[in-house]
Amino acid sequence: MYVNGKFVPENQPVISVFDHGFLYGDGVFEGIRAYNGRVFKLREHVDRLFDSAKAIDLDIGMSKEAMEEAILETLRKNNFKDAYIRPIVSRGNGDLGLDPLKCDKANVFIVAKTMSSLYDTMELKAITVGVRRNAPDALSPNIKSLNYLNNILAKIEANAKGGQEAIFLDHNGFVAEGSGDNIFIIKNGVVYTPPTINNLKGITRATAIELLEKNKIPTRVENISLFDVYTADEIFVTGTAAEAAAVVWVDGRTIGAGKTGPVTALMLKEFEKITSTTGTEIYTAKKAPARAA
Ligand code: PMP
Repeated sequence: MYVNGKFVPENQPVISVFDHGFLYGDGVFEGIRAYNGRVFKLREHVDRLFDSAKAIDLDIGMSKEAMEEAILETLRKNNFKDAYIRPIVSRGNGDLGLDPLKCDKANVFIVAKTMSSLYDTMELKAITVGVRRNAPDALSPNIKSLNYLNNILAKIEANAKGGQEAIFLDHNGFVAEGSGDNIFIIKNGVVYTPPTINNLKGITRATAIELLEKNKIPTRVENISLFDVYTADEIFVTGTAAEAAAVVWVDGRTIGAGKTGPVTALMLKEFEKITSTTGTEIYTAKKAPARAA
């Protein structure tokens, strides 16, 4: 595991109780995957990490190139070809007060683990949860912050009601996203996904739109209601950890034929193809020139 420029065994304690990420969720993170020796969309994830940090006025203290190299080196140290990678940047160590001015400099951690599928099944049951997605004018869902309590509350509710995934609504009652993935519905051959005001600008979401367009499947970004969800022909969710998974049941309603539909199946095939053939090579990438942190 990478900790502030050093590599240490992952079971070694590295974090202070005064770390503001630990105390207050004051920090940002990413979830990235490597497939077959390549990191999928590395630059896009690093860009989003830096954008999240910018939005909370957090100076990561290193360049994007140095971050990319630290991610690749973490994978090399573990001899991983397939892995889930978690860069975490907290505000740093402060005192017990809220004031970020008390935090000297950011703490940067990078953890990598092997991971297969997120869910036991690729045909999920989903529950629309009562807890609303964080409002964008309170804590924007565009920020991938260390404060995931909103998402965890959704997951608790979905678990309690027998769903593997939660569907969040926004404060206007439109569909926002899942607890850890973006949502797509298909009706009469057209794919719909909500705009990214009330959800994370998913990198898998963008990839899915690209793949659908490549296959000449009409894709529209517009608000989706629960009526649209219940009456959809197919639904799928996308995320780095979730990859692409069909949702076949929502709140007691069977979606379409109750199994992975043709558009979702095509997406899965295309997604597997793109993740196994593109990305930043872990073992042949040149080292970035050393930079002052
Ligand atoms: N929404 C939320 C809340 C998430 O945590 C994730 C996972 N990062 C996503 C959507 C999907 O984003 P991505 O495809 O970039 O992993």
